[in-house]
Amino acid sequence: MDLYSGYINRLIEELSSLPGIGSKSAQRLAFYLVNQPKEQVKRLADTIVEAKEKVRYCSVCCTLTDQEVCPICASPKRDKHTIMVVENSRDLAAYEKTGKFGGVYHVLHGAISPMLGIGPGDIRLKELMQRLQTDEVTEVIIATNSSLEGETTAMYISKLIKPTGIKVTRIASGVPVGGDLEYIDEVTLLRALEGRIEL
Ligand code: ZN
Repeated sequence: MDLYSGYINRLIEELSSLPGIGSKSAQRLAFYLVNQPKEQVKRLADTIVEAKEKVRYCSVCCTLTDQEVCPICASPKRDKHTIMVVENSRDLAAYEKTGKFGGVYHVLHGAISPMLGIGPGDIRLKELMQRLQTDEVTEVIIATNSSLEGETTAMYISKLIKPTGIKVTRIASGVPVGGDLEYIDEVTLLRALEGRIEL
C-alpha cells in the first residue's frame, strides 16, 4: 500500500533523482512544495524550464552561459594566450572567485574515467584542440581535480598537446588528493596555480 498519493510519490521520486538528495530530503522537499502557494511553485518550475532552455555552451570555452560567447571569453581584458582547463563550470567559478587569474578557460564537462566508461571522446577535448589550432595560445594550464580521473585526464591532455610545442603546465598538488576544486579555499587554489609545474 502506498503511504502517500501517487502524485506525491512521483514528486518524491523525481526529487530523489537529483544529486545529493536522499529519500528523506526528497520527502521533506515534496511536502514543502505542495504546501507552498501555487504561484511560488509555478515560479520555481518555470525558472527550471527556462534555465534549461536558455543555458548553452559558450562557443569558445564550452562553459555554461546564456550567450553565444560567455562574458569571460568576450572580455578584451582577458589574456587569450593562457588557457586553464577545468572539469566543469563550478571549478571555473572557484578560480574566478579568486580574481587572480587573468587568462581564459576551457571547460571539459567531465574527466576521463575508464571505470565509468568515459573516454576522451565524451568530454570537450576536441573543442580544446581546435582552439589550440586557431588561437595564439602559449600556455595550457591543466587544472583538473587531483582524483584518479583528473590525473588521467591531465596526462592524456599533456600528451596530446606536447607535439604542438605549446607549454603545458599542471597546477601544483596544494590541492588535496581526491579533492574537488570547488570545495577548496581561495588561498590553496592560488598557491596551486602559482606553483604549477611544466609537464
Ligand atoms: Zn567562454
